[in-house]
Amino acid sequence: MIFHVLTIFPEFFEGPFAYGVVKRAQDAGIVEIRIHNLRDWTHDRHKTVDDRPFGGGEGMVLKPEPLFAAVESIWPERVSQPPGSSSQRRTVLLSAQGRMFGQEMADRFKECEELLLICGRYEGVDERVAEHLADEEVSIGNYVLSGGELGAAVIIDAVARLLPGVLGNDTSAAFDSFQAGGHGEGLLDCPHWTRPADFRGWKAPETLLNGNHEEIRQFRRRTALEKTARLRPDLLAER
Ligand code: SAM
Repeated sequence: MIFHVLTIFPEFFEGPFAYGVVKRAQDAGIVEIRIHNLRDWTHDRHKTVDDRPFGGGEGMVLKPEPLFAAVESIWPERVSQPPGSSSQRRTVLLSAQGRMFGQEMADRFKECEELLLICGRYEGVDERVAEHLADEEVSIGNYVLSGGELGAAVIIDAVARLLPGVLGNDTSAAFDSFQAGGHGEGLLDCPHWTRPADFRGWKAPETLLNGNHEEIRQFRRRTALEKTARLRPDLLAER
């Protein structure tokens, strides 16, 4: 799967994808991450990507021209395709006003061949990008970030780990929190323990040490349910 990121801060991404699962996914050729500098699609001496908002007010707004030019140069066929017409190549505008990103959306995005993430900055992005360029506007939470870059990194990480072959064992994502399979449809993952079995007098559960696989399976399902009821009762209510 190819991820494209459109940003005015390409150096931002030197860190997030250089470690762990996402790094291994790239090394294995399962994931390709292409970082594009929005300023490459400007034509003036100062490489201007922003301008003052119509109507006045504070801050600057990302201009539509470089964003349209960038997407249409990455995917030339987009010139003649309206937003929403391709399920294989999705354009996502990161926005505090967008629909909330979650595991279900990650599951949907993993079916794409390519995903292009537009990172806003300043006061935001000219609304014509949301209306006529992006397939969807996506938020990673009910708070305002300074830019879309953190959101793009979150989405890429969450989607990449779902791709076949990325995690060592293909079933290991199925037991993660929010997944439809695993301990039980959309619950939290069960709690985990490791050695030492006794740490400062706090003992790991006996059941996990006795080697009885059926008992361990039932224990994990029960503790996943208990933890969900305690920390995220809303997930149980949804079921
Ligand atoms: N004035 C905008 C508002 O109140 O909705 C906030 C603009 S924010 C300072 C600049 C950029 O950060 C946005 O264009 C968006 O790309 C990104 N951003 C901010 N909060 C976000 C969130 N919760 N999820 C995804 N992207 C976000």
